[in-house]
Order: sequence, then structure tokens, then C-alpha cells
Amino acid sequence: MNSRRRTLLSETSAPNSPGGIDLDRRRLAEALDVVGDAIVVVDAGGEVVLRNNAADRFHDARHADALAGDGLRELMDRARSGEECSRELQLFGPPAEVFWMTARPLVADGRRIGAVGIVRDVTEARRIENVRRDFVANVSHELKTPVGALAVLAETLADVADPVIAKQLAERIATEATRVGAIVDDLLDLGSIESQPAARQEVAVADLVDAAIDRVEAAAAASGHELHVQASDETIICDRRQVVSAIANLLDNALKYSEPGGSIEVTASANDGWVTFEVADNGVGIPSRDLDRIFERFYRVDRARSRATGGTGLGLAIVRNVAHAHHGDVTVESSEGDGSVFRLRLPMTGASNSFFDEGR
Ligand code: ADP
Repeated sequence: MNSRRRTLLSETSAPNSPGGIDLDRRRLAEALDVVGDAIVVVDAGGEVVLRNNAADRFHDARHADALAGDGLRELMDRARSGEECSRELQLFGPPAEVFWMTARPLVADGRRIGAVGIVRDVTEARRIENVRRDFVANVSHELKTPVGALAVLAETLADVADPVIAKQLAERIATEATRVGAIVDDLLDLGSIESQPAARQEVAVADLVDAAIDRVEAAAAASGHELHVQASDETIICDRRQVVSAIANLLDNALKYSEPGGSIEVTASANDGWVTFEVADNGVGIPSRDLDRIFERFYRVDRARSRATGGTGLGLAIVRNVAHAHHGDVTVESSEGDGSVFRLRLPMTGASNSFFDEGR
């Protein structure tokens, strides 16, 4: 018998407690267990009269949980004397957790009869808030540079009489405007992949590869890159637009991060219910310490190179989101100086192949 049940029994075994009240208390206790928050009710003297299962964790607890238990008790003592109070508690862990706690006085017929205390785990909510805040800060920072440059260039242009210099300035304005446009386009792409479920249609794998190559063909010709393509004749159920965009992003990177005249292998093969799109280059490669981070938004190994090649820092984040929207994944193998191989793996049926994929 756990301590909550003992509390209930001692309460309900009071001499003149009618069976109806006993049942009501039991229902209430069961109902409070359904709630994810920890809930504790004390009487006017501070004795616990009800505690749900989630609150057991903070009762007679040790280590970090004891801190939360002490914090809640303190709030409830204040609530018993009529004060409504709340606070947030950050536990540094591991695991790092954030709890929001609140306590309210309980009043019946104008008399204070105790207090109720609630502990809510807000760890995930705070994490999401932080990710959002960082994202907004990053977007602002990324846009600030080209927008600032645009302002300066336009001001300078207004005072220039020489048509040759005016033309150069106008060209630089066009470059910066293109950069802003590329960032906004990628942000819109990311946003639409995150907010809309992928539209499913049956498409030939080779058709996806061809469409992606169409997008980079002009750039590849300009830099003298050779593209070697091999695609299976299977079909896949996917969001055509998203998958083409993901493969094109991988191709675009292969061009940007390898020397002009380099060779890029693109293959799409089907195996065991999965299609793997592979893009391999013999370019600069990626240091092993950066491999874990390159799929993060705005993460770049070489900021100067990314900027010089018109990178937005969002390409691989888009690829990763497309993979996840299709219950697939994207991986990379790379060694500095030798080149990189990116593999985008998607289930052919377009559906999650495993029960455990659903929650990702
Ligand atoms: P970017 O717009 O900067 O290319 P991405 O999200 O597409 O942004 O890529 C993130 C970073 O990963 C790049 O800045 C680059 O440093 C690295 N990277 C991506 N693809 C390659 C590749 N094929 N070879 C070497 N480095 C790459």
C-alpha cells in the first residue's frame, strides 16, 4: 500500500464518516492521478490529506527531488496563511529539469481549511521556448548583415556620379538582395515542412533525382563539375516537392564545398522497403567534431566559405526536416580533405515502418 492510500484510509476511517464521502474521496484521488501534475492537499495544520501518485516523487525525497519537495512545502505553508504564491525551480540534474510550483489557500465558509500545492514539469515547454528564442535571434542576426549592407550600398549609390562605380554598387545591391531572398525562401521552406503534413504521391525515384539535377545543372556546368547519376527504376510514395528540394540541397552543397571540376556521384537505390538517395563529392570534407552539428539551423563549418558561395546555413536543416516528415533519416560520412557522402533514406511506402518512429 503506498503512502497516498494510507493517507486516504486514515482520513476515511474517521468514526462518523459516511460511506459516500469515502467513495467521493476515492474518486477524487483516482481523478487526481490522471492529471500529470503533482498535487498535494494539506489541512489547516499542515497535515497531508491527499497526495496524488505524481506527488509521491517529492515526498520524503532525496537529492534534487527533495529540493522540489522543500520548495512546495514552503509555498504551501504560505498558502495556509492565506497567500497565493508560485515559483519556478530549475534543477541542474542530470537530468536538467524545470518545475513550476504554485500553492493556493483553501477556504470554506470563510474559514481557511488548508492549502493545495501543484508541481508542473515545464522542462519541455522551456526547452521549446529556448529553441524558438535562439531561432528568432539567429534569423535576426542572419538578416541584419545583408540588410545593413543594402542600406549602406544604397546610401553610397545615391551620391555617386561615376556610372562605372554606380554599376558596381548596383551589382552588389543585387547580390545582397539575392542573399536576403535566399534566406527568406529557405525559412519559408522550413516553415512549410514543419507545419504541413507531407503530401503523398507515387513518384518514380529517377524522376526525383532528375528534377533535383535540373535545379543545379547550370551551376554545375559553370563550375565544370561532372555529375554521375544512377537511379533505380522503383517508385516511392512521398511529397515530391519536398524530396526534390532535399536532394537539390545536397547537390548544391556538393558543388559549393568541392573544387571546380570536381566529380559528384548521385545514386538512388531501393532496398528492403527503403530508398536511399546518396550524394558523394570529393570536396573539402567536414571535420569530425562538426559532423553532429551540421544539420542544425545556421550551423556552418566555414562561415566565410558558406557566405562566399551564397549559403544560408539552412540547407541541411531542410534536408533533415524532409527526412523526418517522411519517417526517414539523413546521415553523413566525411573526412576532411577527402570529401563527403550524404545519405537520405526514406521508406518506399511513405509510411512509418516502425511503431517507434511515430513519436519522433
Ligand atoms: P550552407 O548554406 O552554409 O551550405 P547547410 O545547412 O547546407 O548550409 O550546410 C551546413 C554546413 O555544413 C555548411 O556551411 C558546410 O560547412 C557543411 N557542409 C554541408 N555540405 C557539405 C559538403 N558536401 N562538403 C563539405 N561541407 C559541407
